[in-house]
Amino acid sequence: IFLDLDNFKTINDSFGHAVGDLLLKAVASRLGECMRDCDTICRQGGDEFLLVLGNVLNADAITAVTEKLLDALAATFEIEGNELSTSTSIGIAVYPDDGRDIETLLQRADTAMYHAKEAGRNAYSFFTEQMNIDAVEHHRTRVGLLHALHRGEFRLNYQPQIDLATGAVVGAEALIRWNHPQRGELAPDQFITVAEDSGLIVPIGDWVLREACRQAAAWRSSGLPQLVVAVNVSAIQFTRGDLEASVRTALEESGLPPACLELELTESILIQNTEQVLQTVQRLKSLGVMLSIDDFGTGYSSLAYLTRFKVDKLKIDRSFVCDMENQPNNALMVRAIIQMAASLNLKTIAEGVEDEELVDFLRHQHCGEAQGFYFSHPMPAIEFANYLVRDQAVAA
Ligand code: C2E
Ligand code: CA
Ligand code: CA
Repeated sequence: IFLDLDNFKTINDSFGHAVGDLLLKAVASRLGECMRDCDTICRQGGDEFLLVLGNVLNADAITAVTEKLLDALAATFEIEGNELSTSTSIGIAVYPDDGRDIETLLQRADTAMYHAKEAGRNAYSFFTEQMNIDAVEHHRTRVGLLHALHRGEFRLNYQPQIDLATGAVVGAEALIRWNHPQRGELAPDQFITVAEDSGLIVPIGDWVLREACRQAAAWRSSGLPQLVVAVNVSAIQFTRGDLEASVRTALEESGLPPACLELELTESILIQNTEQVLQTVQRLKSLGVMLSIDDFGTGYSSLAYLTRFKVDKLKIDRSFVCDMENQPNNALMVRAIIQMAASLNLKTIAEGVEDEELVDFLRHQHCGEAQGFYFSHPMPAIEFANYLVRDQAVAA
């Protein structure tokens, strides 16, 4: 990443070189705050900085860092009583797509940086055109997300969770949808990562909690069968939000009993194993909410956290559950997880259950619950309520 301040010369000329030097130092320290420990920052000379990001997953991750950099440098600087502001132009070249050696990468990042300047400053540009197109999309999603909450564009769908022993619906997983004004209904994989990168997942996650609790309480008071509503929680809500306060608020506002709320955590949250995570989990437990581990079996393989965090339920990942006929190892894995859970006194639910054979297999293995297209796709609240009524009628 090649980074160049847009009006440094003017600042130098108007405030003197001493102030200019202090500004460069302040810029460097803000850059440092945006980068991880494993990244490299250097000053190439003048007002040019070079940043090297290692281990980035995709162009989206680069876009997220770049937008963070632009934001960080856009805030005014207070230097010896002067309020200074500067904009920044950024050019990006990606190994190995744009070059395999440092000279080529540098030269291409530089070219991209000039494109950003021509595009009107305080902007960034990838060397590769497709990456620019993706970055524009990413940016549109991020800006759209800023307004989506207060414009009421989010909605929750609910997918039933079935008790395999009795066949009764015992729970509902709340799954978010975004009714985008131009792009129509978007699934979570089209915006959750962007929401996580920008921190917007914290207010969005709060909304999901409140809305799911409100809906579950409404179903209860309309006489529908007792249900546990399960809500997905992102790792960012744990580290950057105040999850305990959010859960407390959602429960108080709705009057939903805590035992009727389940939080689906991922292994990535629990393996952080920091004092903060441990304390948050303990406080959530003492509120009386249920905790389950989502996508169990795909993340980290340390099992120590299962007992340390006192979770209630394992949600066996879809990748083991699907395609069991063709992949005998999957069946072994599912059986092993169920047995382990039983000896640790944990409940189990299998997700992604698509056919009857599977239901039989799971019942035979004493898996507690199941969820998947075989029973129902996730559906809007109204349809879910109708589904419950029909289900009750059949049971009766
Ligand atoms: P997940 O937690 O693993 O949720 C289950 C996903 O599997 C849902 O996709 C659901 O529609 C899909 N699914 C359910 N049954 C079947 C089946 O039988 N076969 C197949 N192939 N798929 C099935 P969806 O709604 O697109 O959600 C995707 C992911 O987005 C979720 O994966 C979850 O990680 C995340 N997500 C959804 N809502 C929220 C939310 O409110 N907050 C956060 N942080 N993440 C959310
Ligand atoms: Ca889930
Ligand atoms: Ca899952």
